[in-house]
Formats: sequence, structure tokens, C-alpha cells
Amino acid sequence: MLDKKNFYINGAWVKPKSSEEIKVIDPATEENCAVITLGNKADVDIAVNAAKDAYESWAFSSKEERIELLEKLYENYKKRWADIAEAITLEMGAPKDFATKLQAGTGASHIKSFIRYLKNFEFEKPLGEHAPNQRLIYEPKGVCALITPWNWPMNQVCLKVMPAIAAGCTMVLKPSELAPLSSMILAEIIDDVKFPKGVFNLVNGDGATTGDALTSHPDINMISFTGSTRAGALISQNAAKDFKRVSLELGGKGANIIFKDADPEAIERGALRCFRNSGQSCNAPTRMLVEKSMYDEAIERLKKYTENFEVGDPKKEGEHIGPVISETQYNKIQTLIQKGIDEGAKLVAGGTGKPDGLDKGYFVKPTVFADVNNDMDVARTEIFGPVLSVIPFETEEEAIKIANDTAYGLTNYIQTQDSVKVQRVARKLRSGMVDVNGAGIAVDAPFGGFKHSGIGREAGEHGLEEFLEVKAVGGWS
Ligand code: NAD
Repeated sequence: MLDKKNFYINGAWVKPKSSEEIKVIDPATEENCAVITLGNKADVDIAVNAAKDAYESWAFSSKEERIELLEKLYENYKKRWADIAEAITLEMGAPKDFATKLQAGTGASHIKSFIRYLKNFEFEKPLGEHAPNQRLIYEPKGVCALITPWNWPMNQVCLKVMPAIAAGCTMVLKPSELAPLSSMILAEIIDDVKFPKGVFNLVNGDGATTGDALTSHPDINMISFTGSTRAGALISQNAAKDFKRVSLELGGKGANIIFKDADPEAIERGALRCFRNSGQSCNAPTRMLVEKSMYDEAIERLKKYTENFEVGDPKKEGEHIGPVISETQYNKIQTLIQKGIDEGAKLVAGGTGKPDGLDKGYFVKPTVFADVNNDMDVARTEIFGPVLSVIPFETEEEAIKIANDTAYGLTNYIQTQDSVKVQRVARKLRSGMVDVNGAGIAVDAPFGGFKHSGIGREAGEHGLEEFLEVKAVGGWS
């Protein structure tokens, strides 16, 4: 079992004040694989003070210095890539190949992308040609609390840490207590790069104690949070008391609209996108809306595809999916699958219980429900497991109405060969992202949602600007 009890504060690994421990569980074996410390208020105070002291000089560091450090960080990240992937497999069960290519890979892509945006970003510029003496100055927002979930651990951490560094902010990162190990490797990388002390700090712990202490701390100026809508609301209440800036990336219940002229792979591609990462992606297309005239064929194809979909040991190579993160999450998914059956949705593949031969570990059967009504729980709740709900529609207007009839608005998907229809429908979907015909959303495109899916955008230039305040100076000469 790994001993990961220390925190990274003020440029060193330090013994926490708290002696309360949290066990990290390998979801594939249900065994303890590491132990971390549950940071208390005193630990949070020390880390925030370090970040506050460092801010005084880091806020005024040059763009060149930040670029140089981020470039070194990127080189070191590449050297530790395999370690990061292995940690992600251990802490949250992402299979080896997926953890290497996508989980660790997206972290690397974001570092590279933020370096590029930092190089091109104008921190000072005139308001416009019409007003040469009016100056806009982009300044760091201050000391940031960065709070991340377990489902794409390195992707989410890099989406916050890199733009915060690039903007000149200092920070305290609290990664998910369920998957803290990859973040601790990132802290080792940052330590090797030798950032000025206190720019980056890491404290472990849960939401109720450590997360709450961070988000209510008077010296935190900005909170960047990714996680559940429930926690996002609690964090916003803490932030409201002293007007902390807040960026929230929350849940989703994406619709994938399959028109009858969709390309031949659209159905299977949609199921794969739903099941990938064991269904634990906020942008997963979990509601498949299928045009009536091809509905029966789609259900047949989904049944065949899902029954052959492999679930297995994340430590082995291959394209299979691994377990879900925890026993709590496993039980929640089981309850929701049973609810779907009780509500009268037609179970096409999968169902409750563990896949054959996988009695140990939090493995879930990839599951497809047909004839789902958009009012059912399986269509409304973010299940965060490999569960697909298929809903028939007759007209374009009906499809748009069903897609938008949700509390969320993160990513919707359109499958059709008709480019005029693509543009018409994309404009009407109420979501921060629309992915057409499997094209994917670029790594540096603004990532974020409408409605209960959050506030603000991550990645690329928009992600950098989240960490900046703009100041207007009149009379600049
Ligand atoms: P969670 O909200 O339980 O936890 C996320 C993080 O917040 C953890 O670090 C946790 O310790 C902390 N936290 C929890 N309660 C807190 C509180 N009251 N105050 C401060 N911190 C608190 O979410 P989770 O179960 O880890 O993650 C899954 C959720 O994240 C899903 O709803 C998913 O859709 C969402 N998510 C969203 C995006 C996005 O970009 N929109 C990306 C990934 C995941």
C-alpha cells in the first residue's frame, strides 16, 4: 500500500497537521492501494497562506518566465507519462491503453495548448483604434482553490493548474479523495521543475471538510470546480459570501440525435461514446434519440453491440472498459438500472448485477434501455455508469424539444449527412458544445455548459481568461 500522507506546500512535501487518514481503493480489486491524509482547516490555512505570500511576486512574473517553467513542466510530464497512466488505472480503474492514450494524453495536450495560448496572449492592449489612450490590462484573479473530481483526473487538473500558472495566479489544488495519486505525481513534476515556492500547493481531503475549508477561506479569490451539480451549488453559496470568482464544470445528460440519414457507424459510435470510461464522463451521450423509421434497426444493432462489449481488468491492454469508481457509485447505478426496469423502459442488453466472471471489483454491465420516455429517471438523472437510454422521435422539432428538455446543457450530438440540417439543429440545442458526426470537440475549444452544467469555460484561450480579471485604464499614454 502506497504511503501518500504528505501534502505539497510552499515548495516542499510536508507532514500534515491532521492525522485523519483516507484509504484509496483500487476499484478493480476493492483493495486499499494507498493512504492519504484528510486535510483539516489548519492544513488549508497553511497552504492558502503559502499561495497568498507567493502571489505577491508571481502575479508580476514575466510571460517569458511562465512559458519557460511550463515548457519544462511539459518535458517532465512526458517523462512521467507512464507513471501518471499507471496511477490513473490504479486509482479509478481506467484500462491501461485508455489511461495512457486518453486520460494521461489529454493532460499533456492541455499543457501544450496552454503554452501556445500563453505565448500569443496579449496581457495589455488598447481598447481599440478609436480609443488609443484607453488601456485594457489582464491581471491574475489571485489565489485560487482548484477542486477536481475522479473521472478524468489529469485532464481536469491540467485544465485548471496550467491556465492558473499561465495567468499568474497561485493555487491550492484539492484533487478528488477517490483518485489523488495522479495529482500527487503532477506535484512531484512541479517540484522537479522548481516553480517559485508557494505558486502551486496540494492538499488532500474530502469535500465536506477540506473542500469546504478551502472554498470558505477569506483569502481565496477564485474557485475553479469540476464535479457534481450538488457540490457546485454548495460551493457557490460559500463563494457568494465574499464575492469569490467561481467557475463550475458540472454534470450532463447529453442527447445524441440520430437522424435516418446518419452515417453507417453512428449507432455503434454513440454507444461507445456512452460506455467509454465506464460511462463516467460528464459529456457522455447518454440519451440516444433515434428517428422512428430506423428505430427497430437501431435497437437490434445496439443489442448486438452491447452484448459483445468487453468489460475487464483495467491492468490489461485492450479496448475494454474497467470498473466504476466506488461501491457507492456501483450501488447508485444498480438502483437506477432497477428503476428503469420498474418504470417500464425495455431492457435490451445488460441489466443489474456484475458481468460474468467479474465478481470482485465494481464492474457494471453495459446496459441499454429502449422505449424510454424523457420523463423517466433513466432519462433525467446523470447515472455516471455505462447505461444508454434510447428514445424514439418523429420530427426534427420533436428531437430538439426532447434534447433540450433536461436540467443540463453540456454536450449534445447530431448525426446526419445533411449539412443544412446540422447547422439548423446545432443552433437550437441548448448546450455549451455540439459534436457532429463524431468530429469531436477540439482540445482547445471552450469546454463548459449551459444551465445546471455550470458556469464558465475551460481549455484554450477561454480557459486562460477564466483566471484573469480585466482592468480598464483611461488616460494611458
Ligand atoms: P463531487 O462533486 O462529489 O466531487 C468533486 C470534487 O469536489 C471532489 O474533489 C470532492 O472532494 C469535492 N467536493 C465535494 N463536495 C464538496 C463541497 N461541499 N465543497 C467543496 N468541495 C467539495 O463529484 P464527483 O462524484 O467526484 O464527480 C462526478 C461529477 O463531476 C459528475 O456529476 C460529473 O458530471 C461531473 N463532471 C463534470 C465535468 C465538466 O467539465 N462539466 C467533468 C467531469 C466531471
